[in-house]
Amino acid sequence: MKGICILGATGSIGVSTLDVVNRHPDKYKVVALTANTNIEELFNQCLAFHPEYAVVVDEAKSLLLKEKIANSAVANIQVLSGVKALEQVSTLENVDTVMAAIVGAAGLLPSLAAAKAGKTVLLANKEALVMSGDIFMGAVRESGATLLPIDSEHNAIFQCMPAGYVAGETAKQARRILLTASGGPFRETPLEQLPSVTPAQAIAHPKWEMGKKISVDSATMMNKGLELIEACLLFNMSPDAIQVVIHKQSIIHSMVDYVDGSVLAQMGNPDMRTPIAHAMAYPERFDSGVAPLDIFAVRQMDFEQPNLERFPCLRLAYQAIKAGGIMPTVLNAANEIAVEAFLNEQIRFTDIAITIEKTMQEFSPESADTLEIVLATDQKARTVAQQMIANLT
Ligand code: NAD
Ligand code: MG
Repeated sequence: MKGICILGATGSIGVSTLDVVNRHPDKYKVVALTANTNIEELFNQCLAFHPEYAVVVDEAKSLLLKEKIANSAVANIQVLSGVKALEQVSTLENVDTVMAAIVGAAGLLPSLAAAKAGKTVLLANKEALVMSGDIFMGAVRESGATLLPIDSEHNAIFQCMPAGYVAGETAKQARRILLTASGGPFRETPLEQLPSVTPAQAIAHPKWEMGKKISVDSATMMNKGLELIEACLLFNMSPDAIQVVIHKQSIIHSMVDYVDGSVLAQMGNPDMRTPIAHAMAYPERFDSGVAPLDIFAVRQMDFEQPNLERFPCLRLAYQAIKAGGIMPTVLNAANEIAVEAFLNEQIRFTDIAITIEKTMQEFSPESADTLEIVLATDQKARTVAQQMIANLT
């Protein structure tokens, strides 16, 4: 029986994780659940899974949850609040596994704390890894933590790696990674229409149901850009060895090309419960609730080169990882600010890439070898991106 802490329990990945946990009550016990503000969902999850701790980052909201819990059948759950409490629950003695499913930079400190504490870290929160790169991978190495990717592409690549493969190593016989992408909702939209697309259109993803931020990232293909950087770090490969492939059916979740000409692919229905269940059962397997793939219904699979003119965010991500140092941190921070401004209808869809590019131009690739540098760069890049947005509007 393993104890699990789910950071970001109320989000899309958090809810899918609890769905998998629910199928295996003999294997997993929920120790802690966390949310930013959504106490209604968190309360229902507390009733269903009876964790020891429930963390609400927002203090006022946590008091409301405390009251609801005190008057419920699960009154012994401890309700905590604040950012520090996230780190507290992700490093608890009886937590073996941490699902890192907070969105954005907010997930860095609790995910890193879990890695430093030697936990089994199921990493969905790609922004945490992108912004802290070598620091995160170094923490995993030093503590002996087990790092298992949840992002469907990286989970697929991990599954296609040689037996016994450990994240962070270079698989010498693998010459290339083929990182698949659906291309998002605007894969074929005429370029001149892109400036006027709305947030509602951008978050309506054709293949995956996800949180708002990652849905916008998928529409700009910054999601693939972040994933490119994530892949360089997880699999210790150069960006030149990673080819992005647009595969609109989203049945192949990525591939590894070996020196003998073998190309291994992992396939399945696009449902995040597959990579979640894979990582939770690893190195074994168990049921995820995902329907078997109907290969005859798929019929056809297409593969295309990405168009960097249509998707400048992907070009910027290649640029950031090749420059190295703090540049991925800058890219991520500027993107978070730009996506938020787009969702709030302050800027146009095409202004997202413009904001990121202009922000990146204000920085040079200094080394990012301490957490202090990373956190300071993240803050500074956010401020610069806000200024760029103010100049645009
Ligand atoms: P979401 O928006 O649905 O959920 C985010 C979760 O994080 C919520 O529980 C929320 O309460 C919490 N949160 C948000 N801001 C916070 C803050 N400031 N402090 C603490 N907690 C905060 O997002 P999601 O789609 O579940 O994505 C979560 C992560 O997983 C992202 O990094 C995303 O890129 C990654 N991911 C998601 C999917 C997917 O299918 N949804 C696939 C691959 C990777
Ligand atoms: Mg992905």
